[in-house]
Amino acid sequence: TLSIMASPVLASGQVTGAVVLTMDVTEREQREKLRREFSANVSHELKTPLTSISGFAELMSQGLVPPEKVKEFSSDICRECARLTSLVEDIIDLSRLDEGGEGMEWEEVELYSLCTSVLQSLEQVARKQKVMLHLEGVEKTVHGVRQVLHEMVYNLCDNAIKYNRTGGSVSVRVEGCGRGCRICVADTGIGIPYDHQSRVFERFYRVDKSHSRAIGGTGLGLSIVKHAAALHGAQIDLQSQPGAGTTITVTFPEQ
Ligand code: ADP
Repeated sequence: TLSIMASPVLASGQVTGAVVLTMDVTEREQREKLRREFSANVSHELKTPLTSISGFAELMSQGLVPPEKVKEFSSDICRECARLTSLVEDIIDLSRLDEGGEGMEWEEVELYSLCTSVLQSLEQVARKQKVMLHLEGVEKTVHGVRQVLHEMVYNLCDNAIKYNRTGGSVSVRVEGCGRGCRICVADTGIGIPYDHQSRVFERFYRVDKSHSRAIGGTGLGLSIVKHAAALHGAQIDLQSQPGAGTTITVTFPEQ
């Protein structure tokens, strides 16, 4: 930004110089505001399951839970612990990505087998939801960070299953495009309302908070996808029709 702003400085002196400074401060303030919002969200999201866990545990330790309810309370505690774990994992992933992939190992990653392994790890979840998984396409290799690419495809497929309908399907496709390549994840699920589509990649943004929470979302999945794609210079395209399904395509540049 500064180098673009440098030419008007030369042309019209001090006044334009002041504009450069204002933009710099505004940008910094904006970043700081986002950081504060993120911290506030993180605290809130971490506190909610912790409050439930300590509440349940306290009642149990005081012997206030009738024996027939102990199983139910224990499984509530397990569920909240699982939510905390995925939140913490997502926050760690995001903060590593925020550091711009520093210290990560870059290698040649073959996308078709990466997608195969992601779908294998989601087989059980899909079976439970009665969602069919398909993979098609060709072998394509990109220079990237395997774990980050895995996380990216995993989050896309996990959402495609979570926000699907019983008997629906998820199709993953790896294909070439020009001298680059792309991964498309298409589902036959609930879709994303048009007025939410531009916001779902924001941190902690969920279309329906209570629904996402009930099906186990942290609100960070697509934000991790966005950062993971950016790290690899890839573009994301979202096409979604409410009630019919969503297709998210990640396009990698020429290798
Ligand atoms: P979450 O952990 O809540 O799934 P994400 O960041 O992965 O968070 O997604 C943000 C929101 O976008 C979700 O809460 C959901 O409302 C919507 N969403 C994401 N993927 C899909 C999809 N494939 N179909 C419908 N809605 C989706």
